[in-house]
Amino acid sequence: MATIFSKIVNGQIPCYKIAEDDRYFAFLDINPLVKGHTLVIPKEETDYIFDVDDDTLGGMLIFAKRVALAIEKVIPCKRIGVTVLGLEVPHAHIHLIPLNRESDINFSNERVKLTEEEYKQLVEDIRNNLV
Ligand code: AMP
Repeated sequence: MATIFSKIVNGQIPCYKIAEDDRYFAFLDINPLVKGHTLVIPKEETDYIFDVDDDTLGGMLIFAKRVALAIEKVIPCKRIGVTVLGLEVPHAHIHLIPLNRESDINFSNERVKLTEEEYKQLVEDIRNNLV
């Protein structure tokens, strides 16, 4: 059975898409720790990130770099933090999280709520900053 993230890639479930190429896909996290929290996935389904083959895993980080550089142009932050959990969705993914302080990346924090308009504007702004 396809993971929820594969359904996003296939367009069966909507998302706020940031970037896509033939192997990878990036979209806004629907329950963000901070504004700009983004997920990067390989299109090929693998549950555990360290089961992803070397070539795909390396390319995933390079794809994530391009996305992170665009996010940091839009969201005022010191760094883009990178985290892997994978406790909820069994499809390898990297969390990209704009950081101003260490506690911004605490997954026990209350999540921020964005309006539909804010999500759409954020997508547009980040996409406009992709190089
Ligand atoms: P984890 O597997 O523990 O890394 O957590 C999965 C992450 O995916 C969480 O931060 C969720 O908010 C996020 N998530 C789950 N479903 C969706 C979805 N349909 N669209 C965007 N983000 C999602």
